Amino acid sequence: MPVLTVGSIAIDDIKTQTEEWSGLLGGSASYASVSASFFDRVNLVGIVGSDFPKQHIDLLQEREIDLRGLQIADGKTFHWAGQYEADMNRRRTLLTELNVFETFTPNLPEAYRTTPIILLGNISPSLQIHVLNQVESPEFVVADTMDLWITTARSELLELLKRVDLLVLNDSEARQLTEDDNLVRAGRKILDLGPKYVAIKKGEHGCLLLSRNEFFSCGAYPVEQLKDPTGAGDTFAGGLTGYLASLRRPVPTFADLKRAIVHGSMLASFCVESFSLERLKSLSRIELDQRYAFFRAMSHFDD
Ligand code: AMP
Repeated sequence: MPVLTVGSIAIDDIKTQTEEWSGLLGGSASYASVSASFFDRVNLVGIVGSDFPKQHIDLLQEREIDLRGLQIADGKTFHWAGQYEADMNRRRTLLTELNVFETFTPNLPEAYRTTPIILLGNISPSLQIHVLNQVESPEFVVADTMDLWITTARSELLELLKRVDLLVLNDSEARQLTEDDNLVRAGRKILDLGPKYVAIKKGEHGCLLLSRNEFFSCGAYPVEQLKDPTGAGDTFAGGLTGYLASLRRPVPTFADLKRAIVHGSMLASFCVESFSLERLKSLSRIELDQRYAFFRAMSHFDD
């Protein structure tokens, strides 16, 4: 079952305490699509400018991502810059230039319109809705969002949430969206807004998955070589959605979602080991499966 992904495709400039890089491949859809491609086919919807380097297109093509929905427009690619503090959970956005994204209103290729599993990666909720409106009877819809949209496009986001099966967001965003500091209560309030499930990411402390009657608290894989956390959330969302698609079941069970969350976390743990998509580029399916098996073995406490 293919996955349809939409989100930003970006040129990123990133500063950490020890390194500084510019012109990196970034964007929610880049990370999510590459991550999902470890499990199934990916139909990418996005836009880049005429300045977008060919080597970045080559990377997406090497992962066999369908690029019929990628528009190359006159103008500049979405550009984002961020800086990390010594505590890499803390990041400051230095610059966001939407550029070609400002007027992006894609028409999905005919072949994409029946994609069963949808990942609405982090981008404006109105664009997420515009894409979702063009898909005929989606079976499972995952959406990601961020603080910017909670502040600037709240009503569109609330409209979208009525049509989402799983919302992925981080702890501070869950608190911001619901105005509740307690994460469990915040999660429940999000379920009241429409989604059947919510996955609240807690950075290096893992993720809390909630449904009305069940929960799963997933620890994070302990990463020693943390170089750049950018894109970890998008990689997580892409990995979990790709894994769900690979099950070829229209309605996942809670057990499926738990395994999907762990697969997403393992991919995110590789992502942060290098800048941009460098580690995901070199990652093999065998390495991914080995880390999953090791994490699984380490997580058992009752045998
Ligand atoms: P994350 O670390 O998961 O928040 O994702 C970082 C990626 O999101 C970077 O590669 C950015 O290019 C991209 N990004 C940053 N701000 C936005 C935004 N407002 N809309 C869409 N993508 C963004």
